[in-house]
Amino acid sequence: MGKVVVVGAGVAGLTAARDLASAGHDVLVLETGPGIGGKVLRTAVAGVTVDVGAEAMLNRRPEGVDLARELGLAIEHPTIASSRIWTRGSLRPLPRSLMGVPLDLDQLAASGVLSPEGLERAGQEPSLPPEVVVDDVSVGALVDRRFGPEVTDRLVEPLLGGVYAGNARLISARAAVPQLVAYAERGSVLQQGASLPTTYDLPVFAGIPGGMGQLPEALAHGLDVRTGATVREVVTTATGFALKVGPTTAPELVSADSVVLATPAAPTARLLASVTPAAAAELAAIESASMVVVTFAFAASSVPDLAATGSSGFLVPPVERRRIKAATFSFAKWGWVLGAGDGLLLLRTSLGRYGEEAALQASDEELVAWSLEDLRDAVGITTNPIDTHVQRWGGGLPQYAVGHLDRVARIRAAVDRVPGLALCGAAYDGVGIPAVIASAHRAAAEIGPIR
Ligand SMILES: Cc1cc2nc3c(=O)[nH]c(=O)nc-3n(C[C@H](O)[C@H](O)[C@H](O)COP(=O)(O)OP(=O)(O)OC[C@H]3O[C@@H](n4cnc5c(N)ncnc54)[C@H](O)[C@@H]3O)c2cc1C
Repeated sequence: MGKVVVVGAGVAGLTAARDLASAGHDVLVLETGPGIGGKVLRTAVAGVTVDVGAEAMLNRRPEGVDLARELGLAIEHPTIASSRIWTRGSLRPLPRSLMGVPLDLDQLAASGVLSPEGLERAGQEPSLPPEVVVDDVSVGALVDRRFGPEVTDRLVEPLLGGVYAGNARLISARAAVPQLVAYAERGSVLQQGASLPTTYDLPVFAGIPGGMGQLPEALAHGLDVRTGATVREVVTTATGFALKVGPTTAPELVSADSVVLATPAAPTARLLASVTPAAAAELAAIESASMVVVTFAFAASSVPDLAATGSSGFLVPPVERRRIKAATFSFAKWGWVLGAGDGLLLLRTSLGRYGEEAALQASDEELVAWSLEDLRDAVGITTNPIDTHVQRWGGGLPQYAVGHLDRVARIRAAVDRVPGLALCGAAYDGVGIPAVIASAHRAAAEIGPIR
């Protein structure tokens, strides 16, 4: 049998491991952490087990929901999926948009998200000539040019911040919002937006009743996964690979015919230093953003009627200079959370964007206090929570900088020159769970059948 070592037991590593095991390979998964799942993790807050990392997946891409169903997990769609924007002193509806880029000028005007001047500038978009995007451009630069900076600051930043925890003026438009580039190259985004359907047959998002954390738990079932096993070095040998695992003072050598690295960009760069320095250098240039998720459980009777906001939470543009960047009313978004928390309302805030490492250096008490301050000002919560949980995600989300697609092509070209090596995970073709799963299927296919 072909022995494959998969490094990293996040969704990517576990999916690749499952594919390879189904193909008959002898698979060992090595994970540095005490548990599996990476950024998909559940924890009990006031006795209710909820997600403290990823809590949903795109439903319009099939890979996530297909895999969950294959594993026998149920799918639930959000009860309320629309978020609000907390800007210019109020919670305002999110106008129809493509990652914050407006598709409907009337809705944009009615939302009140922009100042009159900002709205007037955005309204000039249809009169602009088509864009010529040579190579790549940042999302922010493209939107600034077509709609004016207020649209970037008040709409694109909070939406991109939700997915990448990034800065719109640094993130690659081709990697993060390729549809926007395609529209802008053809002509007016607003005019093309007007002809797009306003309702869809499929809900945009899906979750798993009981939490997304069940996905890695189900994936790991029947796999040989060793936790607390840090891979420190990978080298090529005459027959394949040798991996140094465990404490630097007494490392264990694990040999493999093939290796799948399903680790974030920075550790992957370190592990590939001697195997393929070219890929390692490119990976080392992929930066990441750190963030924090704070989960709160309140007594339902003590909190204003948040469901009356008709939204699943709100996003906060960085120009507002608040501490939190988003709040998710988990109890309003997910039927299963409401059902599980008898008399309790669970919700969460998130803090930390690219370059805001200070959020991670604050104490738990500060993070809770800052969140409560913003929740008070935004939605009038003034009571103390029954329970809180602070989850830090250091280096949680890779930043797809301008030129990311070319960088990934160079990484893949370098890795292709090393037989038996494959990479997968959030660093490459998308940070969302379905994209990460797709990258894992691809990596397993690259390892191929047993030789
Ligand atoms: C707070 C937060 C919320 C998110 N929300 C959503 C969401 O709602 N929907 C969505 O689609 N996506 C969401 N994402 C993104 C998504 O969760 C991640 O992109 C995805 O889970 C990454 O999976 P992965 O397997 O590539 O990496 P990871 O989950 O990072 O797994 C990599 C694993 O490798 C291990 N590892 C690292 N170095 C070593 C080593 N040297 N040896 C052994 N093991 C090692 C790590 O411990 C980790 O377990 C969110 C991300 C964050 C941080």
